[in-house]
Amino acid sequence: VTTHVPLGGGREFELVRRLLAVWGPQATGVGDDAATLDVPPNTQLVVSTDTSVEDVHFRRTWLTPEEIGWRATAAALSDLAAMGATPLGLVWAAVIPARWADSLDEMAIGVGAAARFAGCAIVGGDLSKGESLTLTVTVFGTAERPLRRGGAQPGDAVWVTGTLGAPARALAAWEHGGRPTDKDRSRFARPMPRVAQGLAAARAGATAAIDVSDGLVQDVGHIAAASGVRVVLQLDQLPLVLGADPLPAAASGEEYELVLTAPPSVDLAAALPSGVPVTRIGHVEVGGGVVTRLGGHVVEVVPGHDHFSRL
Ligand SMILES: [Mg+2]
Repeated sequence: VTTHVPLGGGREFELVRRLLAVWGPQATGVGDDAATLDVPPNTQLVVSTDTSVEDVHFRRTWLTPEEIGWRATAAALSDLAAMGATPLGLVWAAVIPARWADSLDEMAIGVGAAARFAGCAIVGGDLSKGESLTLTVTVFGTAERPLRRGGAQPGDAVWVTGTLGAPARALAAWEHGGRPTDKDRSRFARPMPRVAQGLAAARAGATAAIDVSDGLVQDVGHIAAASGVRVVLQLDQLPLVLGADPLPAAASGEEYELVLTAPPSVDLAAALPSGVPVTRIGHVEVGGGVVTRLGGHVVEVVPGHDHFSRL
């Protein structure tokens, strides 16, 4: 049984048929000029888009095609997670150079796996030839009460999901001509969009959220600016991967963990699904900017020198 409109002929449609065969029932309603999505009453549509470009966001030698597909999709879904939204559907646009043509199915497997992890249907896409491998994933979700960056209040606690520091170590190893450990590599290659955590945090009364794509301190700075508050981070309390230093971990991008603020009465560690740690790492006060403390002293976190950051 398929919900797809029957497809006509032509080379692009052969490719589309291949992708649909890879995705099976995960792909729904593909084949009209546009997809339609049912948005439940009393919810807002939440939309985000994310582009991954070869040699800007990753190198071919680092990742398998399946991981490239996973990562591009997970990065987009992570933004829905940070809004406390429930994924509804995604569209995938890809520019595929000839040298990558044979890897299309594998990339599609990665896209499908990340979408399945987040409970997100694949509702459409577009394929084009071009010079650089470029994957753009646009995600649609719904939220009754979207979590925004501007809601943090003085007195709130600051929390982070997961553990920090592995993607930066993986990047550093590659940049120095080495090989990351399997664990560090997999944290870079297969980030987990924290969709269930974002949703549970919104329901529990979180006041603001952002996902860590540029680095904890830099991203928390967006919450501070949008909320008109100061955020104090206790780097001694950061949940680190084994052996990681707190300073680089606080600057580490590509983590795709969530930073959340919530009133002190809300225990997010108890409210979020078990299985992924949720750690209290600071508080919100009157003022501006981000203050980072380590061992009782104020320290400066230098933003990562990540060549592969987004602009
Ligand atoms: Mg984001």
